[in-house]
Amino acid sequence: MGGVSARLEDLPLRPDLRGQEPYGAPQAPLPVALNVNENTHPVPQEVADDILDSIALALREVNRYPDREFTALREGFAEYLGHGLTRDQIWAANGSNEVLQHILQAFAGPGRRAFGFGPTYSMYPLLTRGTGAEWVEGVRGADFSVGAQDAASQVADAAPDVVFLCSPNNPTGTPMRLDVVEAVYEATDGIVIVDEAYHEFAPRDERSALTLLRGRERLVVSRTMSKAFAFAGARVGYLAADPVFIDALRLVRLPYHLSALTQAAATAALRHSPVMLGMVDEIVAQRDRISATVEALGYTAHESWSNFVLFGDVDEPAATWRALYDAGVLIRDVGIPRHLRVTAGTDDETTAFLDALASVGSAA
Ligand SMILES: *Cc1c(COP(=O)(O)O)cnc(C)c1O
Repeated sequence: MGGVSARLEDLPLRPDLRGQEPYGAPQAPLPVALNVNENTHPVPQEVADDILDSIALALREVNRYPDREFTALREGFAEYLGHGLTRDQIWAANGSNEVLQHILQAFAGPGRRAFGFGPTYSMYPLLTRGTGAEWVEGVRGADFSVGAQDAASQVADAAPDVVFLCSPNNPTGTPMRLDVVEAVYEATDGIVIVDEAYHEFAPRDERSALTLLRGRERLVVSRTMSKAFAFAGARVGYLAADPVFIDALRLVRLPYHLSALTQAAATAALRHSPVMLGMVDEIVAQRDRISATVEALGYTAHESWSNFVLFGDVDEPAATWRALYDAGVLIRDVGIPRHLRVTAGTDDETTAFLDALASVGSAA
């Protein structure tokens, strides 16, 4: 190889990928990292021990391919989700990002269209375009909510093959009522994905879109172990849908896509779901404390049913982000004008963020 490295333009890249940007949330080794909505509490020791035992067992057979159908794990998810679900209604992959990619590979692709209400999760357009499909963005109201009638008419106009409903929405935290899901389902012949990545942080008595699955074979509810479950590094996401929908995903997944070690780790973690989810109430309390405190500092906190807060009336988001960075606190500039997003951390992390924000100076 010569001294000059090649440029991307020199490669015969797919024309539709030229000029695209990769996913790029900054990963910086700061003491307080509140930028990608992880659960910042480590896995409790007792659970970590059991997970390690399970991985050690799996390791003894790691010379063989794993159970392609990850049967025990699907049973674990069905039991965790409840609502009478059985394992033939469950799918899983390496993060819900891969789960969503499987759906798009099966139901989007070249000449097809996926739709979501922006601003929403930045991976939806990326995953959509990765399959060669077109991304179409609908609009939300000023408070980032979307009503049933409005949502249905936007979806009917766009005529998408796949609709993403992020509930609650990332990066805004906005709840989505189930009547929106029902109305959107009626307004399209396409697949409707309700992404409930943050469902565990919603008020306890709130119904999940899982309650709408019966009789709706084009409806999918996706979840992840990355947020409430404190398992982001293990990469495990899952969904519930009609068994025939699951069959469609089998057409596009790579054989043995979930490693034996991942299956063992996730199945063990699920056996301890009450302990794994033990910090959720504490995180919700920190979230509400963030909302109240940023309001007191003169910012606007948007209603959040997740583990993060989007706050507005930030005069110079880039400068505020940088000042926090210099104070050792990493949060996220999600590209919404005059807004920043912060994950609710431990009590100490949250205090570090709020103190740093206060010393940056109040909003104008
Ligand atoms: C974090 C997040 C996910 C989960 O991604 P994983 O691949 O499971 O880590 C999915 N959807 C939304 C909206 C998210 O914010």
